[in-house]
Amino acid sequence: MKNKMLKTGTLLTIGMVLLLSVLAGCNSASKKEAGNKQNQKPIIVQGPMPIEAQKFAKKLENVKEEKSGNFVFYKGTVDNYPVIVVKTGKGMENTAAATAIAIEKYHPKAIINQGTSGGHDENLNVFDIVLGKRTTNIGSLKTEDKKEGEGMDPTAWKPMDLMASEGSAGEDPDAEKARYYEGDKKLLAAANAVKDTYKKGKVVEGTIGSADTWNNEVDRIKWFHTKYGTSVEEMEGAAAAQIAGSYDVPFLGIRVLSNNKVNNGKYNPNTAAACQDYVYEVIKRYISANAK
Ligand code: SAH
Repeated sequence: MKNKMLKTGTLLTIGMVLLLSVLAGCNSASKKEAGNKQNQKPIIVQGPMPIEAQKFAKKLENVKEEKSGNFVFYKGTVDNYPVIVVKTGKGMENTAAATAIAIEKYHPKAIINQGTSGGHDENLNVFDIVLGKRTTNIGSLKTEDKKEGEGMDPTAWKPMDLMASEGSAGEDPDAEKARYYEGDKKLLAAANAVKDTYKKGKVVEGTIGSADTWNNEVDRIKWFHTKYGTSVEEMEGAAAAQIAGSYDVPFLGIRVLSNNKVNNGKYNPNTAAACQDYVYEVIKRYISANAK
């Protein structure tokens, strides 16, 4: 009798243990799934002006809007993968700050900075798109030494690389060069893979130059084109590339020509929407090739 009771007790205990471990297993499996979703690092798409961000934001699913300072983050998904569109505001400072905040807050897998630009290459027309194989700061310059009354000569100004060292850039001959930020290879591959989907112009690889300057002097534009190899100019890409680089986050600039002084291409704001449509295809491709 005593033996029988012991046996039943043991069987019950074993049964309970089995049941508990099955339940625990289920629990950890669902936890794992939720964890994977949370661990998917978002892709960030930056646009400076409302016309350069809001069209893309409208394409997102499950959107939640967050603000930090003046920066608006539209957090959503594309093909069930997290994508955050950021309206950064115009210019280098806004872009650098918006990039650093996005990296610290959201730990992105990659950053694309996109929008409009002015052509530096006569072979590029309004609506053509430049993929930033390289992005560089064209506002960081060192002037010649000239005494009072000797005037000023912008054509003699030299590029200045503020990232060359922690010492004085003004005194450092090694800083007398432009720094080029390389576009990430996987982002470039995704962008090249879908370039045939873009019907409004051509898509080419090139060099994006950035500064808080709008250049309308054709000789100056040609000077940049020759000296820096710039395809287009805009006011944000190099700031985002520099900050993304300092955190080792893959980066690519994608810019549509909204104007081109070199071949009389008149400003057309509709280019901003066309660029976002193309970048949407790039993101979908990047997600299917790398992110899932
Ligand atoms: N004409 C526009 C100007 C926008 S300000 C308007 O009045 O609404 C400049 C913005 O356009 C920046 O975000 C910059 O990245 C982009 N841009 C387009 N073409 C440019 C050019 N030729 N030079 C500098 N920035 C340009």
